[in-house]
Amino acid sequence: MAYSYDEKNIFAMILRGEIPNKTVIETAHTLAFEDIQPQAPVHMLVIPKGAYVTYDDFAARASDAEILDFTRTLAKICEMTGVSADAGDGCRFISNAGTHGMQEVPHMHVHLLAGRPLGRLLDPAG
Ligand code: AMP
Repeated sequence: MAYSYDEKNIFAMILRGEIPNKTVIETAHTLAFEDIQPQAPVHMLVIPKGAYVTYDDFAARASDAEILDFTRTLAKICEMTGVSADAGDGCRFISNAGTHGMQEVPHMHVHLLAGRPLGRLLDPAG
């Protein structure tokens, strides 16, 4: 099975410059921007510029250069914002995938949340 990418998703529109975003950092292969409905004092989304649906899709198909760029950019954002568990109070990286993952936007993204205690990982109620 191969993922099918919907070019009309909102992050694809952001990448094409069709709708605005609050960019935190942009590199050759990666864009990070503020989430429009923040769930914590720090809530950013880190996305690859390539057309990948989920993290596993990205991990399977992206080039080494894209994966390296994405990973290093994530680290750079943590350093810039001071939220790492090393320099700050820590953070959470979340990447929702598909129906059970409750993914709303079908373009691979990692949420970076920080700035308050974030509770347990999962809501037991589902
Ligand atoms: P997910 O449920 O993991 O797919 O999360 C999608 C996230 O995208 C949500 O946290 C939304 O608040 C966020 N979002 C949707 N549209 C925009 C937008 N135009 N700019 C920034 N964030 C957005």
